[in-house]
Amino acid sequence: VKESEIRIKAAHDRYLKLLEDDAVRISANPELMESISCPVCAQDQSQLAFTKAGFNYVTCEACMTLYASPRPTFEALIQLYRESESTAYWVNEFFKPVLEVRRERIFRPRAEMITRLFPDVATGTFGDVGAGFGILLEELSPLWPDGRLVAIEPSKEMANLCRAAGLEVAEEMLESLDAGTYEFDLLTAFELFEHLQDPRPFFESVRRLLKPGGHFLFTTLSGTGFDIQLLWEKSRSVSPPHHLNFANPFTIDRLLKRTGFELVDASTPGVLDWDIVDGCMSDGTWPGERLWDTVNRFVDTAGKENLQSWISSSKLSSHMQIVARAV
Ligand SMILES: [Zn+2]
Repeated sequence: VKESEIRIKAAHDRYLKLLEDDAVRISANPELMESISCPVCAQDQSQLAFTKAGFNYVTCEACMTLYASPRPTFEALIQLYRESESTAYWVNEFFKPVLEVRRERIFRPRAEMITRLFPDVATGTFGDVGAGFGILLEELSPLWPDGRLVAIEPSKEMANLCRAAGLEVAEEMLESLDAGTYEFDLLTAFELFEHLQDPRPFFESVRRLLKPGGHFLFTTLSGTGFDIQLLWEKSRSVSPPHHLNFANPFTIDRLLKRTGFELVDASTPGVLDWDIVDGCMSDGTWPGERLWDTVNRFVDTAGKENLQSWISSSKLSSHMQIVARAV
């Protein structure tokens, strides 16, 4: 997978500009913002990492989580996701044109990975939180024909798309789902954690909706990941007001312990780190550094693939995947 295949650069840049406008507008209004403790370990000692579009990002001294504080209040964020131009743009201009490529390159392998990791859920109950267009569930349906597969999707438009695809839909925020109606063997949330206004109640809700011993699998951006560490405030992944939390695979267990989970596996199966850094040096987004200029100039394709493979296996990719078990 190359970054250019799954993201059209012009559409991505336009989307990020809309987000930046939202971020500047929201952060200028103190009534819409609140300060928080570390969303992973709840400690209060942090250092300013950088400021971007009016948002302060700080690094927790205890667990190295990178997070925005102050950040929009829950109400301000809900309103933003419901009404802002950026959300509609993301759906129609950014996501839809690459939907079929993403189905093949991202969602189908993701569905296959889930069946490999959790074979017992084939006849159980599975829920995807933030199911979006329902593509993961569409891909999973033929693999798990005897399972109960539920799309959890609070947005009306997307919930309707999921229904049109023949999926069972819970059109609600996860936090308002009734544990009596749903007892999940497995819940997943892909690229959602970084958006959460307050991870703790979200994780407690996941815990409440899982059977004892049930699993939660999620992916998110790692703040100790290669491209984010190098690019830092220049990283396109650091995009307020949407991306607020950048946990890491080394300390995420602190949040899991606080919310009734044990860590099963923390990995960083990302494949795009070098490609992203390379792209930012080429287009001038990032001025580069001596070592990485040298790598870019002299290391051949196989060497760059080795580098990416080392990044992923050392848990240093910015794409991380966590498996946790409800205890
Ligand atoms: Zn912390």
